[in-house]
Amino acid sequence: MPHKYHPESLMMTHGYKPELSEGAVKPPIFQTSTFVFKTAEEGKAFFEVAYGLREKGENENLGLIYSRINNPNLEILEDRLCLWDKSEDCAVFESGMSAISSVLLEFSAPGDLILYSAPTYGGTDHFIHDLLKKIGVTSIAFRPHHTKKDLIKMIKDSGKADRLSLIYLESPANPTNDLFDIGACVKVAKKFSSKKKKVHVAVDNTYMGPLWSNPLELGADLVMYSATKYIGGHSDLIAGAVLGNKEVMQRVKTLRTFLGNMVGPHTAWLLLRSLETLKVRMEKQMRNAKKVAKFLNEHPKVDKVHYLGLIPKDTKDYKLYKKQYSSPGAMVSFDIKGGEKEAFKFLNGLKLMKLAVSLGSTESLAQHPASMTHIGVDPKEREEFGITSSLVRLSIGVENSEDIIWDIEESLNKV
Ligand SMILES: *Cc1c(COP(=O)(O)O)cnc(C)c1O
Repeated sequence: MPHKYHPESLMMTHGYKPELSEGAVKPPIFQTSTFVFKTAEEGKAFFEVAYGLREKGENENLGLIYSRINNPNLEILEDRLCLWDKSEDCAVFESGMSAISSVLLEFSAPGDLILYSAPTYGGTDHFIHDLLKKIGVTSIAFRPHHTKKDLIKMIKDSGKADRLSLIYLESPANPTNDLFDIGACVKVAKKFSSKKKKVHVAVDNTYMGPLWSNPLELGADLVMYSATKYIGGHSDLIAGAVLGNKEVMQRVKTLRTFLGNMVGPHTAWLLLRSLETLKVRMEKQMRNAKKVAKFLNEHPKVDKVHYLGLIPKDTKDYKLYKKQYSSPGAMVSFDIKGGEKEAFKFLNGLKLMKLAVSLGSTESLAQHPASMTHIGVDPKEREEFGITSSLVRLSIGVENSEDIIWDIEESLNKV
């Protein structure tokens, strides 16, 4: 039996042949728009396969065509990302929004219905309510407390059950860490699928992936990332990714070819460097976050801490947490006693942690969702989602946990 390596052991080498690049131990940046064909026959053969006119032959070696269609940096990155999600194929995009909007466009058509979990990322929310609505796609939001039965009833009551095309989820929800049941959505999608029409399930796994959650194993058809976050991990690039089986990815990649929203070679190269330390970064961030959550939970100026590691045992949420995730993650939100005034005082007092949106990076970041990332959400809905004026969101980095906790403590003292 050949030895099976863990993904972290392959992040330095997988998918790259040094002998094709002068022996360079790391892939060079293939900063080129186009690739030279040896013969006209070869060019024709490459295009036939790229445009889906025929399948690739068994022993056929396909070369590269043009960097909107394929580029070595992109392909090595996609091969490596596949290892974490145990996926057949992957496509990288120029942003997380680009990955998400491409999936939403490809898997819904005018007249279709989509179901999506709320709260969802602000940009996704906007895309569903603005662009999809404009092209005639109807949407229904569901909340963490809705059961499988509730979802089925909502779909039937809409009168568009036969047009359901996609169930879209983001779990844990940003910024409240509410959990949504992926397995239940997969069952609902099956129920409304027929021989003629498959209802797909797509999961935004930015918060917990690719290390701590594997939605494909739970039955989802598509996984999406803002690779700007943990995958990039250094707050120095914007990128996205979609993963799934060959069949769905063929559709995603074809749309990407014609929208032209693939990531550039330089960003792909930076992401290759990031992937080498993905596991050590995320594990350190999680260990720090656990300590921060425990500290906040015992602090008199803190009302409630929203962290997966603090979900009480013997609850429905705890069962779901254990089923879907292998770690409590590194995102911690908390309600400070008081409101916006107290939250702002805390944020303005931080010295080590930076006051900025985004997440998953090496440096710790803090922000105020109600007035920053989620300011666009309808105020009534915002309250209902638990995104109150007292809520602060922390993304925990790789610093020494004593320093992070010192910073938080000093700043809480000033409130
Ligand atoms: C940041 C983020 C996005 C959007 O990604 P970009 O790379 O900024 O386009 C989507 N979903 C979640 C959960 C995010 O945190």
